[in-house]
Amino acid sequence: MTNKQAAIEIINKLHRSGFQALLAGGCVRDMLLGRPANDYDVATDAEPADVIKLFKRTIKIGAKFGVVMVLAGGQQIEVATFRSEMGYTDGRHPGSVKFTSTIEDAKRRDFTINAMFYDPVQKEVIDYVNGRADLKKRIVRTVGIPKERFDEDYLRMLRAVRFSAQLGFGVEPKTWSAVCANAKNIVRISGERIAMELEGILISPNRSIGTSMLIKSGLADAIFYEFTGRQSEMAVRVLEHLRKKVDFALALAAFFVAWPTEASLEKMKVLKLSRNQIKHIKFLLTGRGKLLDKNMSLSALKLIAAEPYFHDLYELQRAIQKAEKKSVAALASLRRRIKALGDIELKPRPVLNGDELIELGAVPGPTLGQLAQEMYIAQLEGQLETKKYAHQWVRNWLEKRRTIR
Ligand code: ATP
Ligand code: MG
Repeated sequence: MTNKQAAIEIINKLHRSGFQALLAGGCVRDMLLGRPANDYDVATDAEPADVIKLFKRTIKIGAKFGVVMVLAGGQQIEVATFRSEMGYTDGRHPGSVKFTSTIEDAKRRDFTINAMFYDPVQKEVIDYVNGRADLKKRIVRTVGIPKERFDEDYLRMLRAVRFSAQLGFGVEPKTWSAVCANAKNIVRISGERIAMELEGILISPNRSIGTSMLIKSGLADAIFYEFTGRQSEMAVRVLEHLRKKVDFALALAAFFVAWPTEASLEKMKVLKLSRNQIKHIKFLLTGRGKLLDKNMSLSALKLIAAEPYFHDLYELQRAIQKAEKKSVAALASLRRRIKALGDIELKPRPVLNGDELIELGAVPGPTLGQLAQEMYIAQLEGQLETKKYAHQWVRNWLEKRRTIR
């Protein structure tokens, strides 16, 4: 069963029990735009306790705020009670919610294009906020007075940029002015929530336009402290040249391309990224320029090509070259060299292990480590085809050491 079918079945069941139920929010917007929806959300006048009673499998994700997850047909559907939100104290969470009517529920939503409902039985759109007109105009406009809506939840400023980038929409002028005037307040929002919206902006194909908006509004500067000027312009240009589909880590590396690695990682701390993401980004940032070395040794080539994020590094460097209007010849020749290697193992096991090196006379300790490393480089260079060669090479190495001493 698709997500949409599951949502409609849930709506039918709510109807049979005498409740009102509609598709709501993002999925209605996407249906009207004729683009695939992420997920289908249901809004109803049934209260969380009713929903929990009515469906066999539910998760109370935010029952207090009126949201219950219903599991059906292998899908998870968010079923939310029509509500208005009140008493924002910190520009973050609503202090309390009140279960109300569809119209009140439309008014608590962020943008007009996100505030419509669809009745799948009557096949009609329910639009209290002129969302359809704004969809036609292709603009993102807050429901109600922009400043008031941003003061309730500053994350909405970032969401305005995200929807603008994802949909290729403009931002309505008053909404945009309010984003610019309130950008500084984004620091009151948790890093995790910021990271989610930023990811939406940076992985969308319009990421360079979105980034431009983040810079112009002052949001980038507020989130990352001193994200302005020529360095930020470089980010926009590199992002523009990245391929269409990228993940968050590669896009972030491009976003920080004009800053030193350590400074970038420091700025990114606020996003509370996972260790893997940080490792990924660090590899990309420290790898800047490395692939341009025309004289890269065979061993260095094999080692870097075997790195899990090698292809992202290649893509980042390609985008940097394009952004700076520089040649990609070095990258092309690197690719040819890798192709010429065929499907050999780039990172084979060392021909000799530690015990074998000790048997040959190496003394455990730092010297052994150094020997093992140099032997491995020689192996990757293709100098140690067999164990016999390797033995000879190690004996020579140890001999040289002795005579130097
Ligand atoms: P996507 O397709 O990217 O998921 P979406 O419109 O479904 O976009 P969500 O973040 O999933 O966006 O939120 C679902 C709906 O909830 C929105 O369409 C909007 O109506 C409402 N909403 C979400 N976050 C907020 C917020 N911070 N303030 C007001 N309304 C919000
Ligand atoms: Mg959604």
